[in-house]
Amino acid sequence: MAAKSFDVIVIGAGPGGYVAAIRGAQLGLSVAVVEREHMGGICLNWGCIPTKALLRSSEVFHLMHRAKEFGLSADSIGFDLDAVVKRSRGVAKQLNGGVGHLLKKNKVTVFMGQATLPAKGKVSVTTDSGTEELTAKSIILATGARARELPGLEADGDLVWTYKHALTPVRMPKKLLVIGSGAIGIEFASFYNTLGADTTVVEVMDRILPVEDAEISAFAKKAFEKQGMKILQKAAVKKLDRAKGKVTAHIEIGGKVETQEFDTVISAVGIVGNVEDLGLEALGVQIDRTHVVTDAYCRTAVDGLYAIGDIAGAPWLAHKASHEGVMVAELIAGGTPHPVKPESIAGCTYCYPQVASVGLTEAKAVEAGYDIKVGRFPFIGNGKAIALGEPEGMVKTIFDAKTGELLGAHMIGAEVTELIQGYVVGRQLETTEEDLMQTVFPHPTLSEMMHESVLDAFGKAIHF
Ligand SMILES: Cc1cc2nc3c(=O)[nH]c(=O)nc-3n(C[C@H](O)[C@H](O)[C@H](O)COP(=O)(O)OP(=O)(O)OC[C@H]3O[C@@H](n4cnc5c(N)ncnc54)[C@H](O)[C@@H]3O)c2cc1C
Repeated sequence: MAAKSFDVIVIGAGPGGYVAAIRGAQLGLSVAVVEREHMGGICLNWGCIPTKALLRSSEVFHLMHRAKEFGLSADSIGFDLDAVVKRSRGVAKQLNGGVGHLLKKNKVTVFMGQATLPAKGKVSVTTDSGTEELTAKSIILATGARARELPGLEADGDLVWTYKHALTPVRMPKKLLVIGSGAIGIEFASFYNTLGADTTVVEVMDRILPVEDAEISAFAKKAFEKQGMKILQKAAVKKLDRAKGKVTAHIEIGGKVETQEFDTVISAVGIVGNVEDLGLEALGVQIDRTHVVTDAYCRTAVDGLYAIGDIAGAPWLAHKASHEGVMVAELIAGGTPHPVKPESIAGCTYCYPQVASVGLTEAKAVEAGYDIKVGRFPFIGNGKAIALGEPEGMVKTIFDAKTGELLGAHMIGAEVTELIQGYVVGRQLETTEEDLMQTVFPHPTLSEMMHESVLDAFGKAIHF
């Protein structure tokens, strides 16, 4: 059978791939998507969306316990873990269906199967019913990533879980060990701890949420400990001894190895790109550890072959993947898009309290040689935060003292994952402190703290 020909073939229908496909189709290109498992990729099915659905349940549970504080009553507060998970899976399913609908509406041809690249411009799709050969001038790799597994700490789905197991738990953990305090580890720690699991987080670096500003990490640690979480920093899980219903963890801390027993372990030690079994090495694609090497326009070393999203490296975020998808589709269609600027991509962690940031941390700004001005504003000084019953948090801003450029913004507290976008827009528009100070923020909102933090950096804060 003759190979089916397209302008663009996208491999993987995650937030990188499906968005690239839709944008390509909108620009008049004939587009095919090859997906081996699920529309929407990790993000919709096993990542961003189902975790946020779980965290919403734990947030409501937390608020129910505080009912009295709001003049309300709630008796016999409890939860049904199966129902919590069922809701999360339902939310993922709804969005997964939505992606299929969007691809159809934009006349993108979908092949459900495993893709390989037998030669330049060629894609082979293996489905249950055989193999289909496709050709295209441009191919976009968007195969994403999966959980990293460390030797000895491998998941077994019963005692030791990856994020997939943690999203569909076989039981409610009583004594939980979370290995790794990046966004994924901390979100699960927050979820299970709020539901009552006795939770310990082990982080090899000297602080939790290590990519965040050090002040935010310290604030988060204090807040989590107040909620009963145990946090071990500069600590490493060396070994897990598994027995029936229990795991003994050998944890190295301060030069000594101590043992602790848990009934469940979540391993959240990072991710690795899905670079294998595609035929990339034979094509001459450069791979750095587990990620495809690209230039700023997501071009690989092979002409006409692009890589976007998690397979193309950090930051491993859905919005970065989607933005790269749009950029590459526009490039292929003959446009002149701007490359994605990683330093303008916000990172959000939906734990309680939430954490969000964009741009340089204070340490990185100093390291880069900037003379800086730093502003801070605490949630306790904000009327809306008090009214919401969320007085815990802070907004920190970092400016270039010479030019007034907003170098970075770092927040912890209620709804900061929504607020951060204000600063992202500011950075995109290359705003200075002057524009931000002149901007009128509505009252009463949490966003007023974003204003006050800027004012504070220049000694003009009103409410603190
Ligand atoms: C628990 C968890 C929570 C997260 N929360 C957030 C969050 O809140 N915000 C955020 O921005 N990011 C979050 N992420 C990260 C986010 O999910 C990823 O950054 C995002 O999914 C990357 O998109 P992608 O398109 O590159 O790849 P993916 O979403 O991984 O999609 C890749 C797709 O390619 C398919 N595929 C792979 N190989 C082949 C092949 N050979 N042939 C055919 N198909 C193939 C896969 O089946 C998959 O569907 C989270 C991740 C996890 C694990």
